[in-house]
Amino acid sequence: MRITALLLLTLLSINSSHAFNISDNFWNTDQAVFHVGISGSSPTGGTWNDAFKRSMAAWSNVSNFKFIAVDGYLDPCIARGAGEFGDGSTGVDFNATVCGTEFGESTLAVTLTAGQCQNQQCTGGFTITDADIVFNSGESWDVYSGPLKSASEFERVALHELGHALGLNHSTETAIMQAFVSDSDTLQSDDIAGVVSIYGTTEVAQEITISNIYGVTLQAPSNATISAGSSSNTQSGTLSSSDNQLDGKTLDLYQYTFKNDSSIDIQLNSQVFDPLLYLVRVSATQAAIPGSTFVDDDSGSGNNARISQPIQAGTYWLGVSSEDSSAQGDYEISIISNTSNPPSSFETFTSVYGVDVLINPNPNISGSLVSSDFKFNDKFLDLVQIEVTATSTVQIDLNSSDFDASLLLVDIVNDEVGALALQDDDGGDGSNSRIETTLSPGTYWLGVTSFSANETGSYDIAITLVLP
Ligand SMILES: [Zn+2]
Repeated sequence: MRITALLLLTLLSINSSHAFNISDNFWNTDQAVFHVGISGSSPTGGTWNDAFKRSMAAWSNVSNFKFIAVDGYLDPCIARGAGEFGDGSTGVDFNATVCGTEFGESTLAVTLTAGQCQNQQCTGGFTITDADIVFNSGESWDVYSGPLKSASEFERVALHELGHALGLNHSTETAIMQAFVSDSDTLQSDDIAGVVSIYGTTEVAQEITISNIYGVTLQAPSNATISAGSSSNTQSGTLSSSDNQLDGKTLDLYQYTFKNDSSIDIQLNSQVFDPLLYLVRVSATQAAIPGSTFVDDDSGSGNNARISQPIQAGTYWLGVSSEDSSAQGDYEISIISNTSNPPSSFETFTSVYGVDVLINPNPNISGSLVSSDFKFNDKFLDLVQIEVTATSTVQIDLNSSDFDASLLLVDIVNDEVGALALQDDDGGDGSNSRIETTLSPGTYWLGVTSFSANETGSYDIAITLVLP
């Protein structure tokens, strides 16, 4: 049985009601140049180019990602024929077809992206290096604000297509990124939450107090979401007497989310004190955090600290401290992460029932029932173990398009199957399974199996925290 992590729902996104939907494809850089040189003006005046550039600026204003407009025409259809993946340069124009393919009946515009796959099978999405936008010249177009009129409105469609260029899919909420054009003509909170979840916010390090855990101040750096295939970022700070105190030592805490399993190399350097580095994973089923997941004092050069190893996708708190209780002064953190085929850091064991159990997976898991799996009542079975550290109401969704999924939830007491055993076959969408229940602290197994005998295929599990 092999299970690998897919996408992560962080604590932060679980807390929101947003419905944005991000693809696996993102820009590795925090900027993209768009060549803008569409000829002509809208019927009510104003050039198409000005409207397009306003849409670019609207996205640039709400996240770390910047669209840079370059005046000059570039045909979006260069190298966009069958089997071609663009010319590496962004362009935009009206065209009668999508670079040779007919527009769908009600399609106003199409965004074509291309880039480098993150692994050989291209299952982890790709790093976008080219995005081209084609508006349907068979439509009548104008630029106006407010409710829709008979002519299609260019500027909000440009906003929508640029959202696709950023790596956003369609949202199910009222948003520019919903699948159909509407009376909304500006970015909605859902759109903004979507792009911020990929590229981070433009706001300066926003300080959040997590008083119910340590009573410490937690900083979410502007580049706190790390989603690219290979990325690096740095953060500098200062330990001072006004900082958080933990066990009599000053402590700065930063929150980072790694969207994929990664190989990481974090270095904490200081010229003025002997640094100590913590890296702690926080998860949806832990209201309290473990003491430390990784800790290092002197693995870097000199007295500096360094943690270099594979980690699971998830939200982590990175702590900067020192063995020396009076340590104060400047430090620098450098984080390098790489998501291309990191070695697995999941622990597994074979239970007394003879089936492999995967311990403490990510909130989102993808796996497959295969014919070599453990078989129970003629049905293949995968087991996943989760630890719950505080009473939590969770919704567990098991989805498969390959088989009629059936989900089990079992309480494990003293390494034996305990009293609570919930089972669901079709509580989710279609023939998918869903269990929503309140779990006391403890150890649980999730069992993935099928309704009918001998079924195989891939599945996804999503564990989300249900808020009161
Ligand atoms: Zn769309």
